[in-house]
Amino acid sequence: MLQNFSYLAPETLKELYAMLKKNSGKSMILAGGTDLLVSLHNNWIAPDSLIDVKNIPELNGISYSSVNGLSIGATTTCIDLINDKDVGKHYPLLVEGAHHIGSPQLRNRATIGGNICTASPCADMGCSLLALGASVELASEEGVRAIALKDFFTGPKKTQIKKNEVLQRIIVPANMADAKFGMRKLKRIKGHDLALVSVAIARTDKTMRVGIGSCAPTPVVTAELPADASFEKVVAAVEKVICPIDDVRAGKEFRLFMTKEFVEQIYSELF
Ligand SMILES: Cc1cc2nc3c(=O)[nH]c(=O)nc-3n(C[C@H](O)[C@H](O)[C@H](O)COP(=O)(O)OP(=O)(O)OC[C@H]3O[C@@H](n4cnc5c(N)ncnc54)[C@H](O)[C@@H]3O)c2cc1C
Repeated sequence: MLQNFSYLAPETLKELYAMLKKNSGKSMILAGGTDLLVSLHNNWIAPDSLIDVKNIPELNGISYSSVNGLSIGATTTCIDLINDKDVGKHYPLLVEGAHHIGSPQLRNRATIGGNICTASPCADMGCSLLALGASVELASEEGVRAIALKDFFTGPKKTQIKKNEVLQRIIVPANMADAKFGMRKLKRIKGHDLALVSVAIARTDKTMRVGIGSCAPTPVVTAELPADASFEKVVAAVEKVICPIDDVRAGKEFRLFMTKEFVEQIYSELF
């Protein structure tokens, strides 16, 4: 049975900041609800109030410029990202990442911000955004701070977001536009399922990064590598950041094997 909670729906950032401050830590932000409502239904969480942020225009929509790169509002849904012309043209890896999330019904509802804030080790947007060197803007009454996405995740379901903050936008740098890319996601079944292992590589004419999911407590990314890094160097960089474990979905050795296999497959496509 669902517990009692208040439902709040601010229409401006100012209203949202005031609500977050007033409810300090007892409220939770509601975006698409695909993750949060499952937790609520199972009584894994017990917020006093849910703050629905979908009516706030500043948190929605996508913009692109060749100077500033891509800016994705936190409440942008997976399907809106997939259908965006600029994303498709300049950052197709993100289209692939979003396509991997759940089913069509889920992608119509789930937001990019929600996927990141859930901070699941297997979050599909985590892996692709990390490979593209994304950062996030966290906003509160005190202002906006930007941090690299690789520093945003601090543990399973844990992030750097403070109680009075909201994830406002996700920024993908201009220098990663038109990057060559590849992504693989291994699942137990053919339909929609969470990743046992996922790997995304983005390569420009100067740099290359590998984002990896389900192989560490959070989605992780290699250090920025030169675009012509050898396969052995890429694998060594990957091994430095992953620490797979045995769990209900896969064994540690299998995860390690499949990560290297996917890196090899994508690397050979990109050269
Ligand atoms: C059947 C099913 C299949 C799924 N399959 C996949 C899959 O294949 N791949 C995958 O990666 N995920 C999957 N998920 C998980 C989930 O759907 C995604 O993570 C989704 O993107 C979450 O987005 P949301 O908008 O629904 O977030 P919500 O459920 O609304 O929120 C999730 C969390 O983020 C917080 N939050 C949301 N937005 C903000 C914000 N702007 N600022 C601060 N905090 C915020 C909320 O408080 C909450 O803690 C699946 C879930 C289900 C139920």
